[in-house]
Amino acid sequence: MSRIDASQYKKTKIIATIGPASEEKIEALLKAGVNGVRLNFSHNRHSWHADVMRRVRETAHKLKRSVAIIQDLQGPKIRIGTVPEMLSVAAGDTLEFAVEGKASSGQIPIQYDFTGEVKKGERLLLRDGQVTTEIVSVKAGVVKARVLSGGKFGSQHGINLPDTLIEGSKLTEKDLADVKFGLKQDIDYIALSFIHTAEDVERLRTIIKKSKRNVRIISKIETAPAVENLHEIIEASDAVMIARGDLATETSPELVPIVGRQIIRICREKKRPVIMATQMLESMTTNLQPTRAEANDVSTAVSLGVDAVMLSGETATGTFPVETVQMMKRIILSTEEFLGETHQLGTAHKLTAAHSAQDAVSLAAITLANHVGAKLILAETLTGSTALSISSMRPNAAIIMASPDERVCNQIAIVWGGKSFQVPKGRLIHAEVLAEFRKRGALEVGDIVVSAFGTHVGVAGKTDTVRLLVA
Ligand code: PGA
Ligand code: MN
Repeated sequence: MSRIDASQYKKTKIIATIGPASEEKIEALLKAGVNGVRLNFSHNRHSWHADVMRRVRETAHKLKRSVAIIQDLQGPKIRIGTVPEMLSVAAGDTLEFAVEGKASSGQIPIQYDFTGEVKKGERLLLRDGQVTTEIVSVKAGVVKARVLSGGKFGSQHGINLPDTLIEGSKLTEKDLADVKFGLKQDIDYIALSFIHTAEDVERLRTIIKKSKRNVRIISKIETAPAVENLHEIIEASDAVMIARGDLATETSPELVPIVGRQIIRICREKKRPVIMATQMLESMTTNLQPTRAEANDVSTAVSLGVDAVMLSGETATGTFPVETVQMMKRIILSTEEFLGETHQLGTAHKLTAAHSAQDAVSLAAITLANHVGAKLILAETLTGSTALSISSMRPNAAIIMASPDERVCNQIAIVWGGKSFQVPKGRLIHAEVLAEFRKRGALEVGDIVVSAFGTHVGVAGKTDTVRLLVA
């Protein structure tokens, strides 16, 4: 068997959103199997986020774990302002929307002024599409819409405008202020919401570069234009999130599984980590058991080869945040065990002209590991690129991703198959790594490890050597 004990080691990673239900349970969440935490900047103040980030990092250090911290920007998400009570509307009703502060009583206040951008005939959806309307007129800052299918909505619920080209797919004022704040914190990734094009990613890239921080960008695919521009967006990004919640509202539910598969395929080709998000174990917000369909959904994501699966409301506001992570881990491990035994992981990989020399070395390492039944593959990586290259081929053996850079270790904590391991800078560490993993019980004397590394220690992107090591 070329895997280490599956019960202690999952290949598909878990990202959990922190919120009021979990802010005091960070240690329990990490122990239950969380590899990355997401802070949703649609909610809470900067001081709250700063405090949670600090405590996540402290806890991770205490547990000797690499954990990715993700700042998730709100983006141009449009929300209803504050209304006195829930509104119940029926098909045929006419609603009036006006910007908050200018809305008179009887009009629905909106937090972002889209009255100059929408047109008659376009759809306006409320509360993740639960209420659908069609715009019938736009006049003097007031948008009138006729309800097509009714329901209830209230304060702060989201508005989707799937037919409207919102100019501000750019970073909003709030996003810019949040990025400025985030870049002063100990974050590993920024997730960019509601993007339309690769330029939207580049714009954030320029800001991050100016800060000289090594912070990577996760592009959330959740609008129809983004689906049109998948290749360019994924190329421009460091990682991608299949943001199924808004994606379903902005396109349609039946497209979500298809677009998801397209994103996963392109991400694996381009070696970009890919995260499956939203409603994965939604019913566990209030129940201790998932629905059968949810268990199946997590398992399908694992089979499709995503790098990470994400929890949102389940861990942010749900009743059972820790139990939900435990359940997710159980589903992941059981599916991975099956995939490993039936050899559906690490299917033979063919290199094309588009692959780099580094990819060829990675493939050589994996081929060798398969032939000698190596227990672990040791990817020595300065920037994480060797680790991503090996991971993208989804080998059967577990990958130890060793880097001297703590930030890189945190970033690769959500990469498929890897176990981050921080090592000293500038020297070969084979003997130390073998000793450490023997101590952890992941290796026994005589076990074989295949290592991929650069002979010019400390030079990035120059992986040129594959070596057999014996524990
Ligand atoms: P959100 O993004 O939770 O920030 O809206 C994820 C999604 O839309 O699925
Ligand atoms: Mn979203």
